Amino acid sequence: MTQILTRPEVAPTRTDGLEEALTCVDVLPVTHDVKTFLLARQHDSALVFDAGQYLTLTLEIDGERVQRCYTISSAPTRPGTLAITVKRVPGGPVSNWLHDHLVPGGEVWATGPHGDFCHVRHPAGKYLFLTAGSGITPAMSMLRTLQDGGLADVVFVHSARTPEDIIFRDELDAIAAVGGALVTVICEADSPTESWRGPTGRLGLRNLLGVPDLHDREVFTCGPTGYMAATRQILEQAGVDPARCHEELYDLAARGAAPSTGDDAELSGTRYDVELRRTGRRIDCADNETLLHAAHRAGLNPPSMCSEGMCGTCRLTLLAGAVDMQHQGGIRQRDIDQGEILICCSTPTGDVVLDV
Ligand SMILES: Cc1cc2nc3c(=O)[nH]c(=O)nc-3n(C[C@H](O)[C@H](O)[C@H](O)COP(=O)(O)OP(=O)(O)OC[C@H]3O[C@@H](n4cnc5c(N)ncnc54)[C@H](O)[C@@H]3O)c2cc1C
Repeated sequence: MTQILTRPEVAPTRTDGLEEALTCVDVLPVTHDVKTFLLARQHDSALVFDAGQYLTLTLEIDGERVQRCYTISSAPTRPGTLAITVKRVPGGPVSNWLHDHLVPGGEVWATGPHGDFCHVRHPAGKYLFLTAGSGITPAMSMLRTLQDGGLADVVFVHSARTPEDIIFRDELDAIAAVGGALVTVICEADSPTESWRGPTGRLGLRNLLGVPDLHDREVFTCGPTGYMAATRQILEQAGVDPARCHEELYDLAARGAAPSTGDDAELSGTRYDVELRRTGRRIDCADNETLLHAAHRAGLNPPSMCSEGMCGTCRLTLLAGAVDMQHQGGIRQRDIDQGEILICCSTPTGDVVLDV
């Protein structure tokens, strides 16, 4: 059921970054619980992004504002397409809302692109992509981009629960058939309608040891928490240089990214004054504490999600003062230059004033 996103004949104008409502122009079934949503910007302008980057969507579901990140699964080399590919998470509000309610003509509010999990930031002649479940999306965007460039040597190993859970199966088969990449799909089990003829079980050391030129490859890993932990261990056992290994974890809740509660006893050093200009409120923040942590301590609940400078949800404008910001790609240099910060990963270096 997978459809290959094709190159448009005319490339629209390209712009850098978005913060706007995107219109859904098509919904493509991918597997029984995965859909690709094709999105369009206003004025037909194309988004400049690197393969592997993601958007942060903001939705209001049952009166509550929720934000989630979704990788742009399309390739920047095919500028007429802007797509996200979403897997239903049982009981999850946003993935199910998108599946059940986002139809052509519908809109979603998005900001981005965010993220550093991009092959172009780690140029190499050889790549290894290790993915599981919906973690395939950034790797697929990178694979599509590398295919369009035509020069890369790619090994692509994807783990799925059963054959019917293989995301982008037809496209992976097509790429493998023309020798565009060495593709292996590992299924944990058969599906009711298909016995898997490829490797079964979980990704193991034996799979990695079979990868040609393993130690010459830049490695990108993305999947659920357990898969990420196991894969890290296997890469270590195989002796792969950690500096060549890049990771993205999709399940932020499992990483313990819930809002910090704050414990005064842990806070030390100087306390600075934080003025929230528009609300007229003042709170204090220690020099070893993030501004988000201080806000939670003061009983405030500003929008935030990952708590690690990844998703860009907690972006605010710094009107005065300075902070030490240790982000992980959740904010663009252009925004930093305009005085924007992510409060989840910023500690004050003096009194600060925020535009909130
Ligand atoms: C940088 C980034 C990029 C992402 N890109 C994509 C993407 O391209 N496609 C996609 O489908 N999802 C992607 N995600 C995950 C997505 O943001 C949501 O977390 C996911 O859709 C579930 O949202 P929800 O509101 O339905 O459920 P939530 O309320 O977020 O989660 C419900 C429960 O499911 C668990 N859970 C959440 N996400 C996952 C997961 N991916 N695997 C296993 N368990 C999970 C949570 O721990 C929680 O217990 C990405 C996440 C990040 C951080």
